[in-house]
Parts: sequence; C-alpha cells; structure tokens
Amino acid sequence: MAKAKLLWVLICVCWFWGAHADEAPLKAVQLADRVWFVQGQAALGSVANRNFISNAGFVVTDDGVVVVDALGSPALAKELLAEIRRITPQPVRYVIATHYHADHIYGLQAFKDAGATVLAHTEAREYLNSDTAQKRLEASRVELFPWIDDKTRLVPADRWLEEKETRLRVGSFDFVIGHVGPAHTVEDVVVYVPQLGVLFSGDLFFRGRIPYVGQADSRLWIASLNRMMQYQPKLVIPGHGPSSSEPMADMTMTRDYLLYLRKTMGEAARNLEPFEDAYARADWSAFEKMPLFRVANHMNAYNTYLLMEQQTEP
Ligand SMILES: [Zn+2]
Repeated sequence: MAKAKLLWVLICVCWFWGAHADEAPLKAVQLADRVWFVQGQAALGSVANRNFISNAGFVVTDDGVVVVDALGSPALAKELLAEIRRITPQPVRYVIATHYHADHIYGLQAFKDAGATVLAHTEAREYLNSDTAQKRLEASRVELFPWIDDKTRLVPADRWLEEKETRLRVGSFDFVIGHVGPAHTVEDVVVYVPQLGVLFSGDLFFRGRIPYVGQADSRLWIASLNRMMQYQPKLVIPGHGPSSSEPMADMTMTRDYLLYLRKTMGEAARNLEPFEDAYARADWSAFEKMPLFRVANHMNAYNTYLLMEQQTEP
C-alpha cells in the first residue's frame, strides 16, 4: 500500500514537472550598449510555455525605455517589466507593436497599466476590430488558460501611425518606425535606431535558416527586405529566434532564396510544367545546407508554385 502511494506521488511529481518544465524564467539579455531582448521558445503557444513563443526587445535611453513588442500574455509582460526595472529605474515610455498577432500583443495591457504609450500602424485597425481577432482571443482564453483569461483584452494603439516612416525622438535617440507591410501582415512595421545601428524586424527576418513562406506573398516580402536593408543595420532583433550581428548576410540569403523560388517555380507555372517535375529539376545546391531546408523547402516551393500561377511577373 505504501509503495502504491509512493508511486502515485512520483507520478504526480513527474506530471507536474513535465507540465511546468518549460516555465523557464524570462531573462533579459544585453546585446549591445543600451539594447536588450528576451527570446521566446521555438514552439507553438501552450499552457506549459505560457505562450512565450515570441521575442521582445527594449532600448534604455537617457529619458525612458522604449519596448518593441509586448509578448504573448499579460503575465509575461509583467515579468518583462520586472526585468526592465532590474536594469534601470527609468519608466517605459513607449511600446511599439510590430504587428497585431496574438503572440506579440497579448501583453500590451500590462505596459498600458504601467503608463506606457502604445504605438502601431493604422493598418492594424481592421484586424483589431474584426470578429477574427475576437474569436482568436476567446479561443486563447480556453487553450492558454490561465495565462490568457477573461481579463486579457485586445489593446488598441494610443497613437495609430499613418506615415510610411515615423520618427520618434526619445532622449538622445531616434526611433525610425518604418511601415514595411503588407508582407507578414498589412500593418508590419520595423523599428530602426540609427545611433545604435539596431533594427527590430518583427516577423520578416530569420537568422541563418530557411524561412517558412506559408501563404505570404513573397513579392511583397522581398520589397520589405529591400527596405530593411536600406537601413544597413549592424544588429537585428527579430520577432522569433536568435538575434543577428550579420543581418545584411541573413537578409540577402532570405531575399535570394525567395527570388530563386519565384524564378524556378514561376517558369514552371508559366510553362504548365507539373510541380514535382519542376521541383526535381531545380538546382537547390545554394540552399540545401541551410537549417530547416529539409523541413521547409518542398512546401515553400509548392506554395510559391501556386502563387506564381496567379502572378505573372517574376
Ligand atoms: Zn510572430
């Protein structure tokens, strides 16, 4: 009987450990003078990981803190605020949302409660006011409870940006907020701080790996990459995955890969060549050594083939 009890306790302990093993404390990492970030896990949002699947970054100026993206739950955002307070006594002045996907904005309310001004591009308003956004939140209240609950709400920007480029001066630093959408979303913005050479790229940048193209329009994505490259950043903090101190090489790789997909699959679509024949014939040697090539390339090529049946220009 005692043995059975012990076994039962062990099972409970293991379950608890397993269910909570992902709850690593959120830790801000300094990447450069005044620049910090927290890196979310490479996973889908779950109760175990608290929806900590995206990154957030911040810059400590001499007149307050500017945060880019708000993480995937109010609890995570509060942990980020605690990390910021550990680093500086200065208040968070602004939070800039790169786009209104759930994993980047469910933490916004914690920053608002702390007195920050929320900035985002005006193109996000249609989604924010849509049934889709509301249904997504309701589903998250079930799937991600207790991290997302009845108190979690969708927070609109205090100031909707309407320009192609908005320049914000905080202390002695400029924050150049460039609208580079539509690409990942219609409202995509990137944030560049020229004095620091750092670019916050949202979900348009991937370091040293094959991206997932999904349903994205690669022509628009290439245009966004070209705009981001004009800033010539020395450091990029993306919405997911590690930061990059060789961002020009990474952006060039992603752009060349997308261009190559469009060229090969576009030719095939125009010549009515079956997808599998075109895929087998294409020379993938420039990309096949990259991480995620085996996982993502076939699907990326197929999605591009379908896209190029609609788009006539390469
Ligand atoms: Zn994302």
